[in-house]
Amino acid sequence: MKLKEFESDTIIEPFRIRSVEPVRFTTMEERAQLLKEAGFNPFLLKADDVLIDLLTDSGTGAMSSKQWSGMIASDESYAGSSSFYKLESAVRDITGFKHLIPTHQGRAAENIFFTTIAREGDVIPSNTHFDTTRAHIEHAGAEARDLVIAEGHQPESRHPFKGNMDLAKLEKTIHDTGVDNIPVIMITVTNNSGGGQPVSMDNIRSVSEMARKYDIPFFIDACRFAENAWFIKTREEGFSGEKPLDIARKMFSYADGCTMSAKKDGMANIGGFLALNSDELASECRNLEILTEGFPTYGGMAGYDMEAVAQGLYEALDSDYLRYRIRSIAYLGDKLSDAGIPIVQPTGGHAVYLDARKILPHIPPTQYPAWSFNNALYLLGGVRGVEIGTVMFGRQPDGSEKPAAMELVRLAFPRRVYTQSHVDYLAEVIISVFRQREQLGGYKIVSGPTVLRHFSARLEPLDP
Ligand SMILES: *Cc1c(COP(=O)(O)O)cnc(C)c1O
Repeated sequence: MKLKEFESDTIIEPFRIRSVEPVRFTTMEERAQLLKEAGFNPFLLKADDVLIDLLTDSGTGAMSSKQWSGMIASDESYAGSSSFYKLESAVRDITGFKHLIPTHQGRAAENIFFTTIAREGDVIPSNTHFDTTRAHIEHAGAEARDLVIAEGHQPESRHPFKGNMDLAKLEKTIHDTGVDNIPVIMITVTNNSGGGQPVSMDNIRSVSEMARKYDIPFFIDACRFAENAWFIKTREEGFSGEKPLDIARKMFSYADGCTMSAKKDGMANIGGFLALNSDELASECRNLEILTEGFPTYGGMAGYDMEAVAQGLYEALDSDYLRYRIRSIAYLGDKLSDAGIPIVQPTGGHAVYLDARKILPHIPPTQYPAWSFNNALYLLGGVRGVEIGTVMFGRQPDGSEKPAAMELVRLAFPRRVYTQSHVDYLAEVIISVFRQREQLGGYKIVSGPTVLRHFSARLEPLDP
């Protein structure tokens, strides 16, 4: 008997499920009532009332049996815990950075880092700063400057690395600002605020060379380093035969340090760190860490959190996992594109972004088209995404309202949580809302705070 090797085109979930969490089904009538009670703001819904929750991929993933077993065996010593040394050795192995400063999440690492290095009048360039990064830089009196390539702002452009830094703009910023006023150059992988788009190895190397030329430190915002490594493997010439772990090592080898939220590619529910090479800077940062986070061998984390992250960093780099992860996002993107729904192309690493300005041209930005589409997803199918548009960014410091650059609905995928049938259902819901798009109306805000209003504002439909 001679059988040909079986080759499958199906990318299956690379895990089996042993512990399950039931989801609760509701009727459309119930959801209409729940949405109304929540002031038409999905942030104010109870998670139990959501069937498929794509609000964020941050801290919402499922942990593995190896992570849980590490957590049971953790060391909760205040000083010198073995769980710290395990995390330190994982971070060193993957990033090569000498010093590890553990924090309770990514923004705590940013707080320590920027408080230590940024001064009034400084400029900190990046491809695109994430909002917490920007906030910490501005809090320190410095300017956060986004220098992503032009394609990064064009939803339809299919450039394979839309997260790349514009090198000409970077060099001009260095000349105009002066080396002394640039304490660090950052690059965010993948570019979360720019659609989860990756950065190429070539671009990381070029930014690093420029930073070295001007003797400016270069740090990576590494939250989705593993997803970025996968895009390099699959889209950049010369990397298809390399393991994601080796690609990640190479990415980090060009940098002097990184900030990290372990709630993303740390595959944990909480945690983060700052890692860096400079002895001097590390010791300054540790002083602040003790003040704001905790003793240097636990920072903001319990021993069991450090165990979960130490294991999670490697699981995030597993090829079978990454293939499934990136494919499940692209799978939804393909289904929506085939149905004629405009989305940010190509699909990124952790989310699909719907272009609501194109879908709902009859709703002006000041009546929040992306908000309207997102609420319809909940009403029709119990799905929760998030508006990234004028409700989130439109309010100006003087109280006036200005349309955001784009009106997007972000559907971010928790890691290892949903299966292909969940995604099939999701596509049906989105397509069904899309087909009835002319029925959708705008919204107005009836009450809410002046900053970060999207979290707690209450709204009303304009044309119920
Ligand atoms: C989530 C995130 C952060 C902040 O991390 P937290 O753990 O949420 O504090 C910083 N940068 C990027 C790119 C992120 O996605």
